[in-house]
Amino acid sequence: MRFLKADKIFDGRQYLPEGSVLVIDSQNRLKEIVATTVVQNDKVESFEGIITPGFVNAHCHLELSHLKGKIQKHTGIPGFGKQIIMQRMSGVSKEKIHEAALAADEEMWNNGIVAVGDISNADDSFKTKQNSKIKYHTFIEILGLNPANEKMMFDLSLPFLRMLQSLGLAGSLAAHAPYSTSLQLIDRIAKFDKENNLPLSIHNQETEEETKFFLGQPNGFKDLYDFLKADISWFKAPGCSSLRSYINAFNDQKTMLVHNTFSTKEDIETAVNKNCFFCFCPNANLYIENKLPDYNLFKEYQNSLCIGTDSLASNDSLDLVAEANVILKNSKAFSLETILQMMTSNNASALNVESEFGSLIPGKNSGLNLVNFENNQLKLTQKII
Ligand SMILES: [Zn+2]
Repeated sequence: MRFLKADKIFDGRQYLPEGSVLVIDSQNRLKEIVATTVVQNDKVESFEGIITPGFVNAHCHLELSHLKGKIQKHTGIPGFGKQIIMQRMSGVSKEKIHEAALAADEEMWNNGIVAVGDISNADDSFKTKQNSKIKYHTFIEILGLNPANEKMMFDLSLPFLRMLQSLGLAGSLAAHAPYSTSLQLIDRIAKFDKENNLPLSIHNQETEEETKFFLGQPNGFKDLYDFLKADISWFKAPGCSSLRSYINAFNDQKTMLVHNTFSTKEDIETAVNKNCFFCFCPNANLYIENKLPDYNLFKEYQNSLCIGTDSLASNDSLDLVAEANVILKNSKAFSLETILQMMTSNNASALNVESEFGSLIPGKNSGLNLVNFENNQLKLTQKII
């Protein structure tokens, strides 16, 4: 049995009362939380800093880890997409992809991350996830802008979810982005997840080009679709923001909207009413678009905010603390408690793993990290368990 105390203990939503002690059993599970006064003083381990539950990374693409340092920065999303496709065509070996995913998984574990929401387009990262100490919720991502291909694209992806489940891994289906996935396909994916009580995810408003695409203005996606030799002359811009064009496909299910860099106040209000979570990936935003969301717009929705690392194709590390520090450095919108909540309990809730991760849960080992907060920046000083 261990008895742990610190300057502050954060439980996933707030700080525990001063003098609280965490009682940890021999299996590293939380037994109970007691007051210092009931524990013999020489038995208590005291830590300098803040103890938090293990971090939950809301958004990653493990299968893109081999692209670290290979993608040019600040090209914008259409340029980024083009580079990813060219890299995929260059024929990287399965072995290289696997090795990079394995190293990325270890990097996250060492950075205090215990659960991850991870996007997969194929089965490249499944073996890594199966053998990992980290709990993964995998979003099998589906693309297909042409409504004529809706059923075919859905049917091509479903076997990956079945494969994942046969390996004992958690997962659901997800739409890639509104500029790459038809409304009909988003609707079908949302219905499937709703029926199976699974969380949903979609990349949302990561680039201004997406807004222009939906408003029918000249935009960068034309280049991308020309490059792909895809005829999209049939596409009729709905004349509103992308989010407002697809939001009604959601059936009040848990949905993670990833990025939200160009979301407006109206977009955000609409989505909050639909049970959506907003996931920020600030380092990826700086890498690709060199622009961050206006965090002030999200200030009042502290229970709906998440943080993710995105992939090593658009980030130099998979470190949730580094992401939090970018937000802290660039905005005063959130208190430290809110930032910590965005690294733990909110993400666990969005991924449907809140009964195991993201807070201090009796009977569970949800990980424990020790962080310091100095000069408005967080630092992971120790992975306690
Ligand atoms: Zn992503």
